[in-house]
Amino acid sequence: MATLPKQPITMPKAAKPVPAPNSDFYELAETLPAEELAVVKQVRTFLETKVAPIITKYWVEDEFPFEVLPEIKKLNIGGVAMKGYDCRGGSTLLFGLLAMEMARVDSSIATFYGVHNGLAMGSIYLGGSEEQKQKWLPPMARWEKIGCFGLTEPLVGSGASGGLTTTAKRDGDTWIINGQKKWIGNAPWCDISIIWARNLADNQVNGFIVENKNTPGFKVEKIQNKIALKVVQNGLITMENCRIPEENRLQADKSFRDTAAVLKMTRYMVGWEATGCAMGAYENALKYCQERLQFGKPIASFQLVQDLLAKMIANITASQCLVVRTAQLDAEGKMTDAHAALAKAFTTAKCRETVAWARELLGGNGIAADYKVARFFADAEALYSYEGTYQMQNLILGKAITGFSAFV
Ligand SMILES: Cc1cc2nc3c(=O)[nH]c(=O)nc-3n(C[C@H](O)[C@H](O)[C@H](O)COP(=O)(O)OP(=O)(O)OC[C@H]3O[C@@H](n4cnc5c(N)ncnc54)[C@H](O)[C@@H]3O)c2cc1C
Repeated sequence: MATLPKQPITMPKAAKPVPAPNSDFYELAETLPAEELAVVKQVRTFLETKVAPIITKYWVEDEFPFEVLPEIKKLNIGGVAMKGYDCRGGSTLLFGLLAMEMARVDSSIATFYGVHNGLAMGSIYLGGSEEQKQKWLPPMARWEKIGCFGLTEPLVGSGASGGLTTTAKRDGDTWIINGQKKWIGNAPWCDISIIWARNLADNQVNGFIVENKNTPGFKVEKIQNKIALKVVQNGLITMENCRIPEENRLQADKSFRDTAAVLKMTRYMVGWEATGCAMGAYENALKYCQERLQFGKPIASFQLVQDLLAKMIANITASQCLVVRTAQLDAEGKMTDAHAALAKAFTTAKCRETVAWARELLGGNGIAADYKVARFFADAEALYSYEGTYQMQNLILGKAITGFSAFV
C-alpha cells in the first residue's frame, strides 16, 4: 500500500509579525467624536495597566479590588450620559463603549460601574424630584457615595413586575419598609440602596433611597460561593421595619412602569458588557492560539481553529453593530423595550457561545483561572441571566413582534 511521504515539520507562512488581537474589527470606536474617543482610550489604559494585572487574584478570592477605586474616581466617568448635577455627561455611545471596554478586561468591574452609574444613579436621574437629583447625584457622580439597586427578592425574580413582596407602608412623614432583596450588586459595602417596594395603600411599586449605614433594621449579608462575577459583591438585604423619610421616596415614580424605564436603559448596557466580555475572551484566546504550538505549528494556523476564531469575531462584530444602533435609537429617544430586550438577549447568547469557543481553544488551560479565559467563560453566565433572563427578553420581544403577550 502506498504511503504518503513524511512531511518535514515547518512553521507555516504567517504574515510577520502576526497581527495583535483586535476585536474592534469594524472600527466602531472611531465613530465617536475625538474627545470621547480619548476618554475610551484613557479607560482602556487604566484597565490594562491597573486592573488586568490584579483581577484574577481578586476573582479567585471572591473579593472586590478596593485598591483601584481611587483611580476610578480620577477617570471622571461618574454620571456618563447624564446632564447636569456634576455628571460627566457625554453620549449614550460613550456610556456603552466604556461598559464594553471594562468588560473586555473584567465583567465584574463593568457590572460594578453599571450598577452604580446606570441602575442606582439612573433611578434617581429618571425618577427623582429636582431636589432629590440636586442632593444625591453630585456625590454619586464624584463616587463619594456609591449605590446599588434592589429589585430582585429571594422568591421573586422574573415576576418582579407584579409580584414584589417587599412592602412600604406610609406612617406620617415616613415609610416603613419590610422585606428582602437578593443578588444586589455592591450592596455589602455601598452607601445607598434604591429599594423597590409595593406600596400597601395602592399596591403600586415605589422606589426609595435608603442610606444603608444610617437605617436601623437594614442588614446586608454577602452572597458566598458564586461561580460568576466573583469580583462584584452581591448581597442579601433584609429590612425589618426600616423607617425611610418621605423625602427619600422617588417622587416621580408611580408604578413598576417607572422601574421598567430604568431597566430599559440598563438592560441594553448589559448588551455592551456581554459584547466586551466576548471581546476579552476572544483576544486572549487568539493570542494563545498564535503562541501555542501543537504538531510543531501554532494552533492558530489550523483550519478548524481559524473556523472558531472567525465565528467568534463574527459574533462580536454583529453584537457591536447591534448595540451601537441601539445606543443611537436611545439617543434619538426612539429605543423601545423590545429594542433593548433584543440587544440584551442576542448579545448575551452570542457572548455565551463565544466564550465557550474561547475556552475550548485553550484546551485544558481553558479551565484554569490563571489563563484568564475561564473567568470570561464563567462571568458570561451571570450576564446571560441578570437584568432579565434570556426568556424574559424574548417574551418582551415576542409581544412586540406578534402583538400577543405570552407573559403568564
Ligand atoms: C450576579 C448577579 C447580579 C445581580 N444583580 C442584581 C442587582 O444588582 N439588583 C437586582 O435587583 N437583581 C440582581 N440580580 C438578579 C437578577 O436580575 C435575577 O437573577 C434575574 O432577573 C432572574 O431572576 P431569578 O434568578 O429569580 O430567576 P427566576 O425568575 O426564578 O427564573 C428561573 C428560570 O425560569 C425562567 N422563567 C421564569 N419565568 C418564566 C416565564 N414566564 N416563561 C419562561 N421562562 C420563565 C427564567 O427565564 C429562568 O430561566 C443579579 C443576579 C445575579 C446572578
